[in-house]
Amino acid sequence: MQLAKRVETITPSSTLAITAKAGELKAQGFDVIGLGAGQPDFNTPDFIIDAAMEAVKAGHTKYTPTAGLPELKEAIINKLKRDQGFDYDKSQIIVGNGAKHVLYLLFQALLNPGEEVIIPAPYWVSYPEQVKLAGGVPVSIITTQEKHFKITVEDLEKIATSKTKALILNSPSNPTGMIYSKEELEPIAEFCLAHDILIISDEIYEKLVYNGNQFYSIAQISDAVKAKTVVINGVSKSHSMTGWRIGYAAADASLIKAMTNVASHSTSNPASVSQYAAIAAYNGPQESIESMRQAFEERLNTVYARLTELPGVSCVKPQGAFYLFPNIQKTSDACGFAQVTDWVAALLEEEKVAVVPGAGFGMSEYIRLSYATSLENLENALDRIEHFIKKHI
Ligand code: PLP
Repeated sequence: MQLAKRVETITPSSTLAITAKAGELKAQGFDVIGLGAGQPDFNTPDFIIDAAMEAVKAGHTKYTPTAGLPELKEAIINKLKRDQGFDYDKSQIIVGNGAKHVLYLLFQALLNPGEEVIIPAPYWVSYPEQVKLAGGVPVSIITTQEKHFKITVEDLEKIATSKTKALILNSPSNPTGMIYSKEELEPIAEFCLAHDILIISDEIYEKLVYNGNQFYSIAQISDAVKAKTVVINGVSKSHSMTGWRIGYAAADASLIKAMTNVASHSTSNPASVSQYAAIAAYNGPQESIESMRQAFEERLNTVYARLTELPGVSCVKPQGAFYLFPNIQKTSDACGFAQVTDWVAALLEEEKVAVVPGAGFGMSEYIRLSYATSLENLENALDRIEHFIKKHI
């Protein structure tokens, strides 16, 4: 079959690929520990499930407005006011099938062929592919562990061109867990305003911050910055609702209108039942978010301490999200593997522990481990990784 050129350049998601491989081994009866997951392991809180069931019984099973129910937009507007002090109008909000879909709509609505989007590496695997699918050109800034994987204005000065349309910031970051401070964001925002660069702020891990670290949205800097920012967020990670597929964008009304037009000819509205669940998530009690956060914090502290004791492994302590992103190049070399991807494949084969190679995130010396699994699983996985390394060194 002769496929479109467009799809030839797209690489499949490496996180989903490792999860699939681990699933295969599990199905064959192996005791696999998956540290590849990009989703919280907790159930969606009961009050959210109850609200969804009530919505179904009440007959809310029909099409809704493409950009989402007015009540959900209201709940999102209230959340943005409560958490960041933002004022948004309903015309500035679109709800989609997860933050991933909302980002897809954004690039479709924003990019002309050849226009560039700056993506700091390591990055979430879907950003460059979505930019390419929209005809745009992803341009990476390779960050360093020494600078905690963060970009500065000097990096932007070197890389920005007349074709630069947007910059993606993801704080807390997948895969590094780093959080930008207000002081770090201010000069970046100033640069973007001066050069007419749209800021895409992916805030999906906003609620998952640990050990006293604070989340700060770049759009909080000033009204001018807010006007030049697309805030992306959703309930997947905050409320353990990955399967419900609800995410949103808050931005300039003309951009939201264009994104809505794209959605109206592709997906239409996100599932009506999920929208009712999301209304409950945003309007209901937020304690369950905090108890999940605390569980993640305990896991992070436990796993980080053990991970950094392994020979050759170096890792900056994550401040948020639920991933660790250690450099294991030295370990992989000492174990005799040609590449980190080979080390990862052997770990899965021999010890049945699934981690994701860093190459998919734009950094081949690293791996990503997710701690969205029980402490028991994590301890067990670290025992196996330790055994694996000692066996090969
Ligand atoms: N952004 C980042 C950085 C992510 O890690 C993810 C999910 O893994 C998403 C966006 C998409 O989340 P969802 O589509 O479930 O809302």
